[in-house]
Amino acid sequence: MSGKEMDWGTLLRESVANMRQLSLYYPVEKDAAKVTRKYPMRINPYYLSLIKEREDAIWKQSMPDIMELEDEEGVPDPLHEEKDSPVSGLVHRYPDRVLLLVSNRCAMYCRFCTRKRRVGDPFKRIKKEQVLQGIEYIREREEIRDVLISGGDPLLLNDDELAFFLERLKKIKHVEVLRIGTRVPCALPQRITDALLSLLRRYHPLYINTHFNHPGEFTEESRKACSMIADAGIPLGDQTVLLKGVNDSVDVMNALIRGLWSMRVTPYYIYQADLTKGTKHFRTDVDEGIEIFKRLKFHPSLPMPHFVIDAPGGGGKIPITPECRFYDVINEEVIVTLNLKSLEYNKLKSELEDARDNGAAIIVIELGEIEDKEDKGIYELLKQYHPIYINMHLKHPDELTEDVKRVVSMFSDAGVPLGDRINLIEGVNDDPRVIKELVHGLLKLRVKPYYLHADSEEEGLTIINSLRGFTSGMAVPHLIVGDKIICPNHIVEKTSEKIMLKNYQGMTFEYPNYS
Ligand code: SF4
Repeated sequence: MSGKEMDWGTLLRESVANMRQLSLYYPVEKDAAKVTRKYPMRINPYYLSLIKEREDAIWKQSMPDIMELEDEEGVPDPLHEEKDSPVSGLVHRYPDRVLLLVSNRCAMYCRFCTRKRRVGDPFKRIKKEQVLQGIEYIREREEIRDVLISGGDPLLLNDDELAFFLERLKKIKHVEVLRIGTRVPCALPQRITDALLSLLRRYHPLYINTHFNHPGEFTEESRKACSMIADAGIPLGDQTVLLKGVNDSVDVMNALIRGLWSMRVTPYYIYQADLTKGTKHFRTDVDEGIEIFKRLKFHPSLPMPHFVIDAPGGGGKIPITPECRFYDVINEEVIVTLNLKSLEYNKLKSELEDARDNGAAIIVIELGEIEDKEDKGIYELLKQYHPIYINMHLKHPDELTEDVKRVVSMFSDAGVPLGDRINLIEGVNDDPRVIKELVHGLLKLRVKPYYLHADSEEEGLTIINSLRGFTSGMAVPHLIVGDKIICPNHIVEKTSEKIMLKNYQGMTFEYPNYS
């Protein structure tokens, strides 16, 4: 049986975890065992089957390399997660959000992992009592409204274990949003089962943030997994790490972003690799990353990622996204945008049919108004044309009426990724407090604010900067002024040795300059 046909439990059991098992597939490198004694290996048969040749992007992400033991520069915990943990396994860095670690096991052990110090170590297993302590901490703090459940990989828990924690989190009144960070859709897509999804859909608004790094990870299985998640009304986001020799190329990144869009996955972060010990060989030069980013092709109606450095020392994510423009939309792109004032069944059907007949691979509806027509047929119709996105134009929290909420929920339940395009209007919503309330309201409705349009760069940046640190990165829109995408520059100094960055609190952090 090939890896692709096994169930997820068998795949995990059949994983390559030692040199004897590895030697059944490839000649084992001298010293490889030394590496895995320090940093565990797990390559499940599915992920192993994606390797086309030695040293390709899949190989580099999964195979132990002696260079992991030769990194003199990195540190075990570059983001100071342990220091920011008031109880073990819970990181509380931003006032309204926490990171709750529920497992230290993963579908594979990525060689570049930020939590290399923990993952896969049998002596660092996360116990149920520890997670319960974390949940108690959350319960006692009303300011926490957003919980990111992570690990390791939370989806390595079985359904009952997962339900046990989700149930307790859901009962906490002030927790408004749950997010699960998991690499399973990419590294073990067989874990996405109907049973898991019927469990997860009980906990909306629930988001899944996944992690693809290379188009070689797009397979029939990973597409199916993402499609099942999206169909369950769970918004999918992606965080990619820029890795030397894996994806540090414009062509690879463009293919990655397009592939994510086609699977209804929102690319929302591209990370500069962290300063984790054992990963120096993966780190790219910051300027090189910025150059790659500038040359990526984004689309004015689809979500684009932020390029960020997670500040060494726990300063949080600092955007270093360069200023860029949307490329002209050309026919080969087969992304069709429909500008519709409202959704009327017959008109929508004919527009969708035309778009598909013209070869549309992705359809985006820019929707002017949200009306509750009680026409269930519309939601069924949308489902037949996936991947289909809807962008709304909500600009004020008062617009989030009960009717609007009901319609928006129906769109989400139909598996449509929802974005918002906020127009900044003087006297209407040019107050950061208004936008903050709007952004929170949208997130509760499973809507991600993609773009903020402003006439003035200064006013737009005031709003964007007020959102930094206030809400999750997936809720911070990109600023558009005219036809330019404006990104605040947080690099305050650059020398031949270091780059100084300023975080949302005005504190400075240092990252090495490799150029
Ligand atoms: S799946 Fe995530 S947590 Fe696990 S090893 Fe890979 S990067 Fe690290």
